Amino acid sequence: MPELPEVQTIVNDLNKKVIGEQIVDFWSDWKKNVRPSFSVFKKGISKTKILKARRIGKHIIIDLDNDYSIVIHLKMSGHLLYKKLTADSQQFTAKQRRNFGSAKISSSSPLKLDAMTSPSSSSLRALERSGEAWQSSVIEGYFNERVNQYIRHKFIFSAEGGSASGGKNGATLEFSDLRKFGWLNLVKTEKVQDEKEIKKLGIDALDKNFTLKVFKEILEKKKKGIIGTILLDQELIAGIGNIYRSEILFEARVNPKRKISTLKEKEIEKIFKEIKNVLKKAVKMRGTSDSDYRDTEGKKGGFQNVLNVYGREGKMCKKCLPASEFARGQNWAGKGKIIREKLGQRSIFYCSICQK
Ligand SMILES: [Zn+2]
Repeated sequence: MPELPEVQTIVNDLNKKVIGEQIVDFWSDWKKNVRPSFSVFKKGISKTKILKARRIGKHIIIDLDNDYSIVIHLKMSGHLLYKKLTADSQQFTAKQRRNFGSAKISSSSPLKLDAMTSPSSSSLRALERSGEAWQSSVIEGYFNERVNQYIRHKFIFSAEGGSASGGKNGATLEFSDLRKFGWLNLVKTEKVQDEKEIKKLGIDALDKNFTLKVFKEILEKKKKGIIGTILLDQELIAGIGNIYRSEILFEARVNPKRKISTLKEKEIEKIFKEIKNVLKKAVKMRGTSDSDYRDTEGKKGGFQNVLNVYGREGKMCKKCLPASEFARGQNWAGKGKIIREKLGQRSIFYCSICQK
């Protein structure tokens, strides 16, 4: 599930790519997750321009120039793909789509094909009526990867020159979501903070107002709580999910099952420092793609390559053994092994030797 670094990566991408884009059409084959209703949403965003994108917790907010904002939650498997169509586009037929759908395409060697025209508004409406799932027509780069093919919702931007046809050279922003839990909502910009799911969020983990003092105050109220569970509670601190709670506590050398009341001052300081360090590093590395998450180009993030504990159950701890022994694989029988357990309904990963 995308957490703070993944959502921030997408927001940063959007701010580079979609500012000033005019939305001319919107398509969905999963309308029940478009709020307040598909028709209100579509009408409310029509002919608007995008002012900026921002993040609140794990929500993406896209502010429009009509005093409304699109609120997006990616949930389990959602991600947004920005597709700029090239000038030498040509129509990509259903037959070609089927052929490419079965082709084996490696994500490490992006394929470039000269077949990338967005369908017109009328053909999108025909697709809506038929209920046929929209297959991505842009065959370029990483968009071929299966994980990027589950397009549920699609924004069509104006073609250059202001044509409102959803036309040849207009870009699109597409919401790919295998599991279908992701949703979009249209709300008054001034009311975004009052939205039920946003209102109850705690302070953002990367907010500059989230200081050591504030962290201590939060923990003070939850003395009987377990640190591994507290970090996951979005109503206390927003943005940390399952991947990063494990990584933060590993870096802080604190056992996730520790009760808050047993944490020493130094340990609390270390956890706080690692919340900021780990999240900032993950944003810099464009997030973790352990499964479905991809950036707006359909590319994986980089943080999965440096994970210390998450997803490494049964493997050697990277840090509690001397490098020389680690290299030889010696002396690790029974110690320095990553453990996976359930904590707060979700898996937690830790090293029982170096996390006290
Ligand atoms: Zn260890």
